[in-house]
Amino acid sequence: MFENLSERLSGVFDRLTKQGALSEEDVKTALREVRVALLEADVSLPVARDFVKKVQDQATGQAVTKSVTPGQQVVKIVHDALVDVLRGEGDPGALKIDSPPAPILMVGLQGSGKTTTTAKLAKRLTEREGKRVLMASLDTNRPAAMEQLAILGKQIGVDTLPIVKGEDPVAIAKRAKTQASLGGYDVYMLDTAGRLHIDADLIAQAAAVRDVANPRETLLVVDGLTGQDAVNVATEFDDKIGVTGVVLTRMDGDGRGGAALSMRAVTGKPIRFVGLGEKMDALETFEPDRIAGRILGMGDIVALVEKAQETIEAEQAERMMRRMVKGQFNMNDLRMQLEQMLKMGGMEGMMSMMPGMGKMAKQVEEAGFDDKVLKRQIALIQSMTKKERANPQILQASRKKRIAAGAGMEVSDLNKLLKMHRQMGDMMKKIGKMGKGKMLKQAMK
Ligand code: GDP
Repeated sequence: MFENLSERLSGVFDRLTKQGALSEEDVKTALREVRVALLEADVSLPVARDFVKKVQDQATGQAVTKSVTPGQQVVKIVHDALVDVLRGEGDPGALKIDSPPAPILMVGLQGSGKTTTTAKLAKRLTEREGKRVLMASLDTNRPAAMEQLAILGKQIGVDTLPIVKGEDPVAIAKRAKTQASLGGYDVYMLDTAGRLHIDADLIAQAAAVRDVANPRETLLVVDGLTGQDAVNVATEFDDKIGVTGVVLTRMDGDGRGGAALSMRAVTGKPIRFVGLGEKMDALETFEPDRIAGRILGMGDIVALVEKAQETIEAEQAERMMRRMVKGQFNMNDLRMQLEQMLKMGGMEGMMSMMPGMGKMAKQVEEAGFDDKVLKRQIALIQSMTKKERANPQILQASRKKRIAAGAGMEVSDLNKLLKMHRQMGDMMKKIGKMGKGKMLKQAMK
């Protein structure tokens, strides 16, 4: 249905030859396509425009990474910038529900998936966080909606407030609060009434319930397929009721999820969860990179980004090797080395790949290197100042004490690390002289 953005871009960039850095023209051409992709994904025009402008400033002049095309590189920059905008602060799944009974208010339009999401979330809180949850439907306009919540509650084993005919929403909210306190519940969830469109009645009712319940979280449930409209709905609810987070439903459908970006950009509210189906466990915490890939319309974005990342890392490693054979091996290099080792399955694995390192691999083995040791060494380096990392020779007794204490270790641990650093440095220099770096280069291929 949608043309893949990477296909589009490859067309644009086939004609370009590679240069050292992304030129303004390259970036502009690529971003024109990006903007179309955003609009197709239902991102609102002003948000798409702003976003593209921001990325343009960021991308122009960036060094071109080897082995990916400029187009791919622009996509990666765009992808990372999208993730940046989409990501809220902290863990989206962590709700403020510490002081029991904590009220959660669920608001949204009719048909957005509010009742379903209420039950899904209740199930999640019960199963994953061991909370005792009480659910109450305040939808007095539609008795069927109250029944629906009761049925879902039975299905997932979560209590619902008994239905009392003729009660108004505020009275129900009060009763839910009392019942939650008396019954020793950790959380009570209020599923408010929806309407097909926002109207004054709906807002007034939700506000009255809010004033009674004083919710810790007010979650706005929005149909992820509605696109443009979602932004108006979110703005309105947030202005009038005050929203602490958004749940996007129907993200299992064909929609590209542009609403997520628009909503986040316009309201600044974090997206907390996404609904991925009708089943009760089809609710996941929001992951910005997934939606970013979707908005850009490319399933292969992750692979692409990883490839670019690998290339960047390889270039970094190459630079480090060059520094090492020149004898410029400081604590930053060592840290990068250690982190790389963690990734590559420890020191032994890595050493065994380098010619001339057999003896050292053995020493390493004897020293009992494992992930825990590597992590402790990295912690020691993190505890150093910038200056100390660049010039480890300045480390005297008082500095050593401070660094070790900062990492929760002994000075003797730090001395071991420094010794290793010296030995590695010496070894690198020798190898550098022996083979003018040829061997290392080979080992890196
Ligand atoms: P409410 O009027 O806002 O309470 O909406 P409901 O919870 O009754 O949901 C309306 C319909 O959407 C129901 O048929 C749900 O099963 C369905 N629904 C809700 N969330 C999702 C979702 O994430 N994905 C899909 N495919 N359907 C959903």
